[in-house]
Amino acid sequence: MSNLTCPHCHNSVPMGASVCRGCHAELKYGPSRAIVFGSVILAVVAGSIVGSILPHSMSIVGWIVGIGTLGFLYTRVRSIYKDRVVFKRIYRTR
Ligand SMILES: [Zn+2]
Repeated sequence: MSNLTCPHCHNSVPMGASVCRGCHAELKYGPSRAIVFGSVILAVVAGSIVGSILPHSMSIVGWIVGIGTLGFLYTRVRSIYKDRVVFKRIYRTR
């Protein structure tokens, strides 16, 4: 089991932990919300482009392309960012 080092307090944090024991920073794994949001937008755009090219009777193909693109991007993003860890420390102002 590999350990991570907290950038805030330099404590050793076990991989998979949700909170740093040293400074209570929150650990977030996987892609950021912006990347997931971007993938969804890309899939919707791809689906609507295909849907607009094809005749209306074949609009189901646009949905299939959109859902297929979303599934493809989701698995790609998941595998690329699976080792990404963010230490999010909430600084209290008082
Ligand atoms: Zn820490």
